[in-house]
Amino acid sequence: MSPDRTNPWEMAQRQFFEAAEAMGLDDNMRRVLSQPKRELIVHFPVEMDDGRIEVFHGYRVQHNIARGPAKGGIRYSPDVTLDEVRALAMWMTWKTAVVGIPFGGAKGGVQVDPRKLSHRELERLTRRFATEISILIGPDRDIPAPDVHTNPQVMAWIMDTISMHKGYSVPGVVTGKPIEIGGSRGRNEATSQGALYVTLEALPRVGLNINDAKVSIQGFGNAGSIAARLFHEAGATIVAVSDSQGGIYNPRGLDVQKLLEVKRETGSVVHYPDGDKMGSADVLEVPCDILIPAALEDQITEENADRIQARMVVEAANGPTTPEADRILHDKGILVLPDILANAGGVTVSYFEWVQDLYSFFWDEERVKSELKAIMKRAYHAVFEIVDQKKVLPRTAAYILAIQRVVDATRIRGIYP
Ligand code: NAD
Repeated sequence: MSPDRTNPWEMAQRQFFEAAEAMGLDDNMRRVLSQPKRELIVHFPVEMDDGRIEVFHGYRVQHNIARGPAKGGIRYSPDVTLDEVRALAMWMTWKTAVVGIPFGGAKGGVQVDPRKLSHRELERLTRRFATEISILIGPDRDIPAPDVHTNPQVMAWIMDTISMHKGYSVPGVVTGKPIEIGGSRGRNEATSQGALYVTLEALPRVGLNINDAKVSIQGFGNAGSIAARLFHEAGATIVAVSDSQGGIYNPRGLDVQKLLEVKRETGSVVHYPDGDKMGSADVLEVPCDILIPAALEDQITEENADRIQARMVVEAANGPTTPEADRILHDKGILVLPDILANAGGVTVSYFEWVQDLYSFFWDEERVKSELKAIMKRAYHAVFEIVDQKKVLPRTAAYILAIQRVVDATRIRGIYP
């Protein structure tokens, strides 16, 4: 991790303690909930195509399982750390609690740049990592899903590996699978669809209409590119987007269909012809109404928060805003829809996928969307009721709601033995 990067685990803990303070949580519960329940570190060999054996390092952290099986994605990234995975696992606990689905929180990661591996190498790495963490995962225990640089194919390999170990198909061990092997309709779009639903609920708070809204998006992967399409279809104008190679800005609007084509054909949105090229992070600072960070953690910081011009920040990414930046944005009158609410659509449809797998009864897309909409709207209003009652930041309100649900479950179950 670069020395100037905020440690995500410290950030997650600070957010927790801030909310714990605001809700007057007792010291016992603070001690219980501020630590992960289980952490597994694995070092595992993979044979590369040229016969070399590489040893990779991976993690699976379960933060809390008081409300149900652990749930959370797996990311492949060269600089993923245990602290990053811990933070993401804790955020999953709060996220599943905010939307009221019966899961705990977990996350996994492997230190690897998957773009440097062949398809077969990626498959071998995935199957071996799945085997290493098989002592923790399972439909009743801990259910991974895609995250940064993992996708439905990676989930299919994990599902197949666990199924081979068991001797029968275990579709419920992962979500975000291809439809052909028990995936849910609407899962690919779910994160961005959920972000759109809560944005539409929040727009009146800042006096905005979606048809007049200019949107800037950092990150053009699963979350970012689908957000571009869905916000555009809902009536907004996408004025800027970026990926790891750079960004593109046009105040008159970008053609989303063309952006998707350019990304597919050239590997980056920077080759989009009709706009000003800029750095990956510059899209955070362009004039817009809705800013959607959809890339990585630690993007809106003390350093750049003051230059943000949006009226609303919708956190499709996990942990994009530091606590200092949160305060600066609030003081500037910018409404932040916090990650554990704004991007909870992904895990919500993962929950639907798991339910469908357990029942072997599959829903059509309309049902997925309408159930998702109901859950996102309910969660949004529960969070903003706390914002209005307690006069706290939306993030703190979302934490208060989530922590209280986990505390209630923990108290009712009791501390074993
Ligand atoms: P992805 O791998 O599909 O896409 C990540 C995108 O971010 C890529 O376009 C990449 O080029 C870009 N990127 C990387 N570094 C960047 C930088 N410095 N500046 C600009 N862009 C950069 O990943 P994803 O699934 O879309 O996840 C993105 C974020 O959303 C992550 O924080 C993830 O945890 C969060 N999230 C994703 C889901 C989901 O269902 N996919 C659900 C909840 C939260």
